Amino acid sequence: MERKKFIQTLGIGTLGTLAMTTLSDFKKFTGDLKVQDEMMPVLFVGHGSPMNAIEDNEFSTRWMAMGKEIPVPKAVLIISAHWLTQGTKITAMEMPKTIHDFGGFPKALFDYEYPAPGNPALAAETASMIKSTALTLDHDWGLDHGAWSVVCRMYPDAKIPMLQLSIDYSKGAQYHYDLSKELAALRKKGVLILASGNMIHNLGMIDWSMMNGGGFDWALSLNDTFKSLISSGDHQKLIDYEKLGSAAKLAIPTPDHYFPLMYSLGLKTEQDKISFFNDKALGGSLTMTSVKFG
Ligand code: ZN
Repeated sequence: MERKKFIQTLGIGTLGTLAMTTLSDFKKFTGDLKVQDEMMPVLFVGHGSPMNAIEDNEFSTRWMAMGKEIPVPKAVLIISAHWLTQGTKITAMEMPKTIHDFGGFPKALFDYEYPAPGNPALAAETASMIKSTALTLDHDWGLDHGAWSVVCRMYPDAKIPMLQLSIDYSKGAQYHYDLSKELAALRKKGVLILASGNMIHNLGMIDWSMMNGGGFDWALSLNDTFKSLISSGDHQKLIDYEKLGSAAKLAIPTPDHYFPLMYSLGLKTEQDKISFFNDKALGGSLTMTSVKFG
C-alpha cells in the first residue's frame, strides 16, 4: 500500500514536473516563435524640415498613419543624419533629452519636448551584438531632431523607448551598409529600426518658390533612379553613389543625410516587401521619399 502510494506520488510528481517543464519550454518556444513571426519592418524616413514635428501636413500625417499600421515596437533604434561621430555610439541613458539642433524656427519648436524613455539594457545588448567595431555607450546625446521630429508623430504618447545609433562620419557608405547587417537580430526582438535622413538633400540649392512641392529635373530623375535601384535590390550601385553621375553629386554634396539609407538597405531580407511613401520632391533639391522594408 505504501509502495503503491509512493509510486503514485512519484508518478504524479514526475508527471507534474514533466508537465511543468514541458509547458515552460513550450511557452518559451512559442514566445520566441511569436517574436520571429512578428519581425519588425525597417523604415527609411525622409525627415525634411523640423516643422514636420508640429505642423500637420502630408508628410507628418503619413508618419502618424505609419505608427498605427505597423506592429507596436518594444523599442525604436534610430539612425539619424544629425548624429555624426568618430566611431559608433549608441545612446544608453534612462531618459534621452530632446535636442533642438536647429536655428531660425518658431519658439514652439524649441519648446517642444519628447519625453520618451531610453533603454540602457537594450543599448548594452546591441553593443554586444556588434562584432566589427567597438560600440561606445553614450550618456550625453539624446534625441536630435532627425529622430524626434519623426517619432513624435508616429508615437505621440512618448511611451516607447527610443535609442539612437550614431553615424561614424570617418567611414564610407559600404561600412555603414555592412554594419547595419549586424543589427538584424533586433528586428526579431520587436525593435523598429528607423533610419532618418533625405536621399536627395542639397539645402544650398533650395528654391523657396518650390517649397510646396517640385523638384529640379535632375532631382526627379535621380529620385526615380534611387527607387528603381532600391526596388531591384541593386544595393551596390546605391553604395557606390558617387559613380551615379552629376545628379548624385548635386543631390549628395555631403553624405550625412544619405548614409541613413545604407542602414535600411543592409537590413533588408529577401522576404521583405518594399513600399515607398512620401515620395515627393520639395524646393527643387530635396526629396522626402521614404521606404518601408517588410
Ligand atoms: Zn536633416
